[in-house]
Order: sequence, then C-alpha cells, then structure tokens
Amino acid sequence: MAHITHESATDRTRGGSELCLACGLCCNGALHVNVNVRPEHLRVVRTLGLMVEKTDRGFEFRLPCPLYQKDRCSAHPHHPPTCQAYRCALLQKHEEGDVTLQDSLAIVRTARELLAGGAKGSAVGPVSGESLRVEVAQSWDGDHGLRGSGALRHANAELVLRAAAFDVYLEKHFRLPEEETDPAAAMHG
Ligand code: SF4
Ligand code: SF4
Repeated sequence: MAHITHESATDRTRGGSELCLACGLCCNGALHVNVNVRPEHLRVVRTLGLMVEKTDRGFEFRLPCPLYQKDRCSAHPHHPPTCQAYRCALLQKHEEGDVTLQDSLAIVRTARELLAGGAKGSAVGPVSGESLRVEVAQSWDGDHGLRGSGALRHANAELVLRAAAFDVYLEKHFRLPEEETDPAAAMHG
C-alpha cells in the first residue's frame, strides 16, 4: 500500500472540494498508511498535534489520521501542505473534466460502502482501512486459510471477499499510476 508522497501531489489545494469532503479515503487509512512530511513543514505539522516519525523514507505521520473527525479534516484549511496538495486519480480526473461530480460522488459512495460493509456504508464513521485490515487478519490464517466454522466461517469468507473487492475498487478508481508515486515507497504498509 502506498503512502502520500510529495511526488503524488500538485500545488493546488484540495481540502475544501465537495468530492474530498464526501470521501476521506486518503485520511482514514484506506488508501494510504502514512503521509510524507518535508523537513521544512515539520514545525507546522507538529503544531497540529500530529506525531511525526523519522523512517528510512524521511519524515511521516501515520494514518488513519487523528485529525479526521466526523467525516472531516478538523485541521482544514490549515492541514499539512502534503495533504493540501495531494490528489488521487479520481480527483485528478474530476478536475480535468473526465468524470462529473455526480459520478465521482457515486464512486466514493460505493467505495465507502465496500469499506464499511453493506448497509453501514453510508456512515463510515470509525471504520477505517486499518480496522478492515485487522478484521481480515483475524479471519484469515496464512497456513490454513479461512478461520472458524459454520456461520463464523461464512462471515469470514464474506469479509475477505469484501476486502478484496474494496482493494480492486481502489486500484481502479483512486490509486495513481505507479510512475506518479515514489517507487521506493509504493508498497509500504
Ligand atoms: S481519496 Fe481522492 S477524492 Fe478522496 S479525499 Fe483523498 S484526494 Fe479527495
Ligand atoms: S491532516 Fe487532514 S487532510 Fe491530512 S490526513 Fe489528516 S485529516 Fe486528512
């Protein structure tokens, strides 16, 4: 899973767009597991209360972001510069006029439904990419496959299928082509 890098960002501010306000998949850990922070932005990012770590890829803070509250970035419009500049594939296509706002919002709705699971989808709330990964890890054994028996096994199978469908959906609509991301960082998380 990729993380948000300076290379995948442009110089426009995205935080207030109607599409992003309805989405948040790049804040809640679904699309990325961390966000790069340039050294010159460390002070402003730390001032927001975000825990910045030094890794072999540079400075970054982890997702799901603690500032993503009630389906909104609580730091907006003073959110970190990397966040302000980042644009996923869907947002880029929408801004270039290749997909309407209505169709973009429908894509976001479907993604959130896949993340949250069926009827809960319209209110993602605390469901995050991380919580889905934890659930899948609990339902799957690398050596023996699906865990449990009977109804539990059935539920675990549905969960694993949903997680796979969600990943394919992210790949199709949200992830940037590999050449637009930092290749060294593309598979972290
Ligand atoms: S994933 Fe894309 S559409 Fe969703 S909030 Fe992030 S930039 Fe906006
Ligand atoms: S600071 Fe705001 S825009 Fe950046 S990851 Fe956190 S919630 Fe999202």
